[in-house]
Amino acid sequence: EVPAESPLLQSLNPEQRAAVTLPPEHALILAGAGSGKTRVLTTRIAWLLTTGQVSPGGIMAVTFTNKAAKEMMTRLGAMLPVNVRGMWIGTFHGLCNRFLRAHYKLANLPQSFQILDTQDQLSAIKRLMKQHGVDEERFPPKEVQWFIAGCKEDGQRPKDVPTRTEEDRRRVELYQLYEERCQREGVVDFGELMLRSYELLRDNDAVRAHYQRRFRHILVDEFQDTNRLQYAWLKIFAFNPDGSAPAGNAVLAVGDDDQSIYAFRGARVGNMQDFVREFHVAHQIKLEQNYRSYSNILDSANALISHNKGRLGKNLRTDQGPGEPVRVYEAPTDLAEAQWLVEEMRHLARDQGTEPGFAKREIAVLYRSNAQSRVIETALFNAGVPYRVYGGLRFFERAEIKHALAYLRLLENPNDDTSFLRVVNFPPRGIGARTIEQLQDAARAAGCSLHDAVSATTGKAGANLGAFVAKIDVVREQTQDLSLREIIELVLQHSGLVDHYRSEKDGAERIENLEELASAAESFVMQEGFGRDAVALPIDELSQSPVSQGLDPNQPILDQPAPDYVAPDAETGETLSPLAAFLTHAALEAGDNQASAGQDAVQLMTVHSAKGLEFDAVFVTGLEEGLFPSERSMADYEGLEEERRLMYVAITRARKRLYLSYAQTRLLHGQTRYNVRSRFFDELPEAALKWLTPKNQNFGGSAFGFGTGYGSTRSPGAQRDWNPDRFANPPVPVQKAAPSHGLKSGMQVFHTKFGEGTVISIEGQGDDARAQVKFNRHGIKWLALAVAKLTPV
Ligand code: ATP
Ligand code: MG
Repeated sequence: EVPAESPLLQSLNPEQRAAVTLPPEHALILAGAGSGKTRVLTTRIAWLLTTGQVSPGGIMAVTFTNKAAKEMMTRLGAMLPVNVRGMWIGTFHGLCNRFLRAHYKLANLPQSFQILDTQDQLSAIKRLMKQHGVDEERFPPKEVQWFIAGCKEDGQRPKDVPTRTEEDRRRVELYQLYEERCQREGVVDFGELMLRSYELLRDNDAVRAHYQRRFRHILVDEFQDTNRLQYAWLKIFAFNPDGSAPAGNAVLAVGDDDQSIYAFRGARVGNMQDFVREFHVAHQIKLEQNYRSYSNILDSANALISHNKGRLGKNLRTDQGPGEPVRVYEAPTDLAEAQWLVEEMRHLARDQGTEPGFAKREIAVLYRSNAQSRVIETALFNAGVPYRVYGGLRFFERAEIKHALAYLRLLENPNDDTSFLRVVNFPPRGIGARTIEQLQDAARAAGCSLHDAVSATTGKAGANLGAFVAKIDVVREQTQDLSLREIIELVLQHSGLVDHYRSEKDGAERIENLEELASAAESFVMQEGFGRDAVALPIDELSQSPVSQGLDPNQPILDQPAPDYVAPDAETGETLSPLAAFLTHAALEAGDNQASAGQDAVQLMTVHSAKGLEFDAVFVTGLEEGLFPSERSMADYEGLEEERRLMYVAITRARKRLYLSYAQTRLLHGQTRYNVRSRFFDELPEAALKWLTPKNQNFGGSAFGFGTGYGSTRSPGAQRDWNPDRFANPPVPVQKAAPSHGLKSGMQVFHTKFGEGTVISIEGQGDDARAQVKFNRHGIKWLALAVAKLTPV
């Protein structure tokens, strides 16, 4: 019954077609790089929808980065007239956030819970350790942070963690204290997003039954990089904790064991074998045709990865010819490497009128660690070549932005101690470390937040603290009927941040960034809108709710509001404020790459962030022992195999041209390193290579033991990744014929739960309309008018 003539299937090979049209049962596609895994996954969604097997609401698709999720939505939107933004397509974290927003009460979270990023998490842990007199030498805070994240990834709460030694006990104690702290402040870290959703699905039969029934098809890309918790989370959609599988839904996992590059963060390739066994996978499909690269590139990748043991075993071939040889360049210094790179790039670029004439965005420079980008950036900048850096310090992670966000978070939630401490004396207002310590002691003694402890302080210090708190409270009062943009502008002004940076030597760029924040907020409101999909239904209604959204060919595709962040309470209609929604967005976006758009620019990124992407030309730089493979990894065999997989990922990003380079000396982390060429060169087929510089005897020999190790260090220099173009043309929200709610600001209204109040402002249209109401007894609330029953009095 497969319509072979369906245009969706035409551009697929027989194995791909078989995968796309599989019956609704669990299946695994295990295949090498560039074999069309992601294409199959996207096409399957389209095929399931067009053949009417499932509605858009019945699909959940999980990818690894926001960029990949957006890419998938774009491709799907191009194939079908469907509201992709309303669909459950996203990253694990993004989907868990959406889920918890819809069920915040059941998850025991405040409606406007905020997300703690890794930076804030670390400072919260440090603070906690200090308060409890834990020695930072014996328990490095980073290690404690790692420990807590690891526990959560293994699904362990403090009570579940086995303790053998005194030190174990101490760590678990910190974990416990950290959890209590987060719960009190109403914040969750990234691991918590996952764990909390998982626990709710596991422990609440009605919720689980609902989602098991709802998601007929679950599709997961890059499955090889899932960790234990993510696997358990996926499994709970298909199986009850007792092992029964009532729903009969289908999970399609897609992956490549050779591209597993997140073991250092808990990813388990073993999940693939577990999946086959525990899901009783009925269909395993291999794809062996590579459509991405010429054979010189592919041969290099195959030869390299063949040095790893314990692979699941796959082949890759291509029908494309050999193409250009893989070019190898040895530079005397890192500066010379960057120079050469820029020259080479110029030959490749379209605007030079030379062959091959690639667009700049089709040229990528990859490196092992962020710290390497600075030298390359300088060379590109001096040569006037536009470029964009991914990773590194992202917009929402910059100090000035985090300061502004901290003020904004305090408006939402005065008990957010992390934000309180970040800005209580920034800009400086004479509140010393001693005062803050006393405040922390008082808060601990009273078991309250720092904000609440302020009223008990005395003397001059107390007055300064009081003034700070009063300032926040006044601003909160003033922002009541303002738009999100106006709120941000007001906060920038009253916090003193702008004035502070104005007096700084290099503050101009920071002020620009702060202004950009206001624009980002405005675009967010226009782009994301406020939808209805995530309405938090009372539990007994969950099982009967019609969750499907039919296909509507008359609807525009990409420009409908995404319902991601708002879940009005089903009884009262209470909903997130635009500010709270924006703060969530900022936290989730910060943990990932920015989308690329706009100006044609060369792309710079770490190999990790290049996963799943492809470019016409790829430069893999810094191929030196101790850098790639990294120093830390070389200690053990497994570490080295992971580096090799990383190199495999790097090589297979290239379609037409591949360049590999290294430098004899490199200045990194303030030290000059004398390098030995990476061992990976010895694992590549000589016939596929062309040495641009003579292939020297490997020199040096004393390269080990320099620097401080690499991994994912962040370079403060790499700050150019924020792409202002991204918000240049926000799609215009769809104007629907608005069912009139007959409310105006200033009106007196009555709400069954909150009683009488005054409408302060109204936002959005039709079913998405929301009102801000100041209730006489219950203070200010945002209400979704489609749900909340407000009557004029
Ligand atoms: P990776 O492992 O790197 O994520 P992948 O297996 O997901 O790779 P895709 O990105 O889906 O591979 O596909 C690689 C390239 O090959 C894409 O440009 C895709 O459009 C193209 N491609 C895939 N299948 C076909 C096909 N049957 N005919 C032509 N091109 C194809
Ligand atoms: Mg892919």
